[in-house]
Amino acid sequence: MASLESNKIRRSVILLQPALLYFQTNQSGATPLSIANIQTQVKSDDRALRFRFSLLWQHLAIKVLLGVLVLTILFAVTRWQAIFAALIVVGFFGQMLTEYLIHRFIFHLKPPQNQFYFNVLYLAHYGHHDFPNNGRMLFVPIWFVLPVMTGGVVLYGLNFALLGFANAFDMAVVTVFIGHVIAFLGYEWYHMTAHLNIRKFGVEKRVTRLHILHHFKDYTQSYHVSFGGEMIDQVMRTAIDVENRANHAKKEFIRTIGLDPADPRLVAARRTFADEFGLSEVEIKAAERGSKLGISNQ
Ligand SMILES: [Zn+2]
Ligand SMILES: [Zn+2]
Repeated sequence: MASLESNKIRRSVILLQPALLYFQTNQSGATPLSIANIQTQVKSDDRALRFRFSLLWQHLAIKVLLGVLVLTILFAVTRWQAIFAALIVVGFFGQMLTEYLIHRFIFHLKPPQNQFYFNVLYLAHYGHHDFPNNGRMLFVPIWFVLPVMTGGVVLYGLNFALLGFANAFDMAVVTVFIGHVIAFLGYEWYHMTAHLNIRKFGVEKRVTRLHILHHFKDYTQSYHVSFGGEMIDQVMRTAIDVENRANHAKKEFIRTIGLDPADPRLVAARRTFADEFGLSEVEIKAAERGSKLGISNQ
């Protein structure tokens, strides 16, 4: 299973300060960070932009998609048509909807009994809920994002061809590899930011508040992450009222999306990916007990 995750981050494990702590303490300006490298960044780098770029850059899918984006822009420029501009906008909003639908209907699929499929979902998303401050589980894996994007090109291409466009393939490539990719990169930025205890821009604060509700209040609500996606949650009736969040009941076993923290499938998945994600024995045991120590605070 380890081979499924091709994103091998070489640098040392980055254990991020729990987003919950941010939520509880950063409102008052306190900085409860205990991780040296992030602390340094926060002190010297205000909103830690350089830190965020370097964290993103460790992730293979980000590098590949940036390359694809640049190449596709060059491709589009050489054969530019006015419709491309509209397609980029369509792709951008299409990705915001895709982000919501994949998160809700694939990443939060009912945990399968089969350990192989369970592990696939653990790599894709369950693991991120289990260890929300683990830097290696923060980003969408490349083995997931590339096939989805490629499938998108095929789907758009078929639809454009059916509509009678002669350059259906070009149109599909521009829609997905520019519009969808820009929105996806934005999503990764917002999501990473939501999990870091750093000073944030206004829009990022809003995204963080809403995403933290998904992690620490109700994992069946607030599926969007990117700024603006809040509207999709409202239309789909999965929005939590931030102002009245105290009245919203907290889900049981919130970090393990409803599963008993000692569920054998979870225990097996943690063991299988311990090396890959740099999980210590202490963290694994704590996660099994459902202890908050499962979110490392070293
Ligand atoms: Zn998250
Ligand atoms: Zn989730």
